[in-house]
Amino acid sequence: GDGARVQALIVGSGYGGSVTALRLAQAGVNVHVIEQGMSWDTPGSDGKIFANTTSPDYRSYWLRTRTKAPLSNFLGFPIDKDVPKYTGILDAEEFSGITVYQGRGVGGGSLVNGGMAVTPKRENFGAILPSVNPDEMYNTYYPRANAGLGVTNVDQRWWESTQYYQFARVGRKHAQRSGFPFVFVPNVYDWDYMKAEEAGTVPKSALAAEILYGNNGGKKSLAKTYLPAALATGRVTISPQHRVTNVAPASGGGYTVSMETIDTSGNVTGVKTVVADKVFFAAGSVGTSKLLVKFRDTGSLPNLNGEVGTGWGDNGNVMCGRANHMWDPTGAKQSSIPTAGIDNWAAGGAFAEVAPLPTGIETYASFYLSITKNPNRAQFSYNAATGKVDLNWQTAWKQPAIDMAKSIFDRINSTEGTIYRTDLFGTYKIWGDHLTYHPLGGAILNKATDNYGRLKGYNGLYVMDGSLIPGNTSVNPFVTITALAERNIDNIITYDV
Ligand code: FAD
Repeated sequence: GDGARVQALIVGSGYGGSVTALRLAQAGVNVHVIEQGMSWDTPGSDGKIFANTTSPDYRSYWLRTRTKAPLSNFLGFPIDKDVPKYTGILDAEEFSGITVYQGRGVGGGSLVNGGMAVTPKRENFGAILPSVNPDEMYNTYYPRANAGLGVTNVDQRWWESTQYYQFARVGRKHAQRSGFPFVFVPNVYDWDYMKAEEAGTVPKSALAAEILYGNNGGKKSLAKTYLPAALATGRVTISPQHRVTNVAPASGGGYTVSMETIDTSGNVTGVKTVVADKVFFAAGSVGTSKLLVKFRDTGSLPNLNGEVGTGWGDNGNVMCGRANHMWDPTGAKQSSIPTAGIDNWAAGGAFAEVAPLPTGIETYASFYLSITKNPNRAQFSYNAATGKVDLNWQTAWKQPAIDMAKSIFDRINSTEGTIYRTDLFGTYKIWGDHLTYHPLGGAILNKATDNYGRLKGYNGLYVMDGSLIPGNTSVNPFVTITALAERNIDNIITYDV
């Protein structure tokens, strides 16, 4: 409540926040988690907690009046539509040069993501987190993260036979005929649940296109893994629909944390302050960076260093589709859960997820989200005129990502005699180069913080989320975010608690 004193306050309930809450609580610390999004535990009038990807409604977007689907067009038709302004689950946050998609609610990005749970190849780790000892990550913290998240592999025999992965088998055939390694990637989806969906014994979820706006079925989001474990300690409280607005040193020690309560239309309904001995920033790469840059530059936390706000990258994300021949249908029925990728990282700087396009009709399209070695990095800065934090990413900075993705798809198109789709991101536009699903950086480990996430300039302030990672993980990021948080909180509990 207002005026309370807490031992540890965590801003945000995504991967970094959830790991921090569980491990601190297990170490005997009382923890308060502040989350601006909703708790997502109550069904709507349709009996479902989350809306389907094919029929977005008020639940789908964070405080927008019109949807902003990552694929804006299909067969020439724009697909966005008006929705009531609501504290929905997916934020399409627009900066001048890029739209950054993020999850909103208790569980953060785990509520909306594809569940692809990929540990980077060890040979790539030195470029991902150069100051971190790979032995401790690969021996201890990646295994711990995978266990905590419930990561498993698809049953390949079933994968070979189900119509729901025909699109992925077509993706494999095309990758291999062009000489690219096709790799299965683990996921947090409950595969037995997915088989039961196919058998018709449970309501269809992944097999009915649920994912982007939440999943009512077998996806093990943080709300099914780390967060219930944290709550079961009896030491964790979570306050949804609370937005942290300021953090400043308190006169008697610790930090005064100011927050607003918001209603489902985003209106501020109240303000509160608490004093916390320790504050853990886990608001996501964009959220944490925006808070820290603002607190530094408006005088709340003036000792934060000049590294804060720098080193932001998009994990090289770029999307594209290919138009297959009529003898290569990808299937009217597609699971929304990806299981595989095309690995051309070493030779071409791209790792492409073979992504579903679950429209319910045969499209003859193959769809891909590529992660590339795009070297461009952007910076957050406080804009005193607007009171907001800007990001200086430029649209043209995606060109290296496009070139790297082409190292895969130009060759596949040439082998198969096929072409790119030009109808998915606008009219006659091949590349989905306006967005990222994987924001990383802004408070880089060992630069803005020490080598374990302690913010330089202040005792008792920490960064625990994707903002620690310098812009790229070579694969999908959440396993690395989770493993790094596991590593850092171990050190913090040993020395600071
Ligand atoms: P987040 O998970 O972003 O959590 C931050 C939380 O902080 C949010 O809930 C936010 O509401 C809250 N917050 C922010 N500001 C405040 C504030 N001021 N006050 C209170 N609360 C605040 N990654 C993969 O590895 N595999 C995938 O298959 C995959 N698919 C994806 C698909 C989509 C559509 C998207 C959007 C992302 C996907 N990702 C995937 C990326 C992954 O979800 C993110 O990398 C991950 O969620 C980041 O974790 P985090 O702990 O840094 O922060």
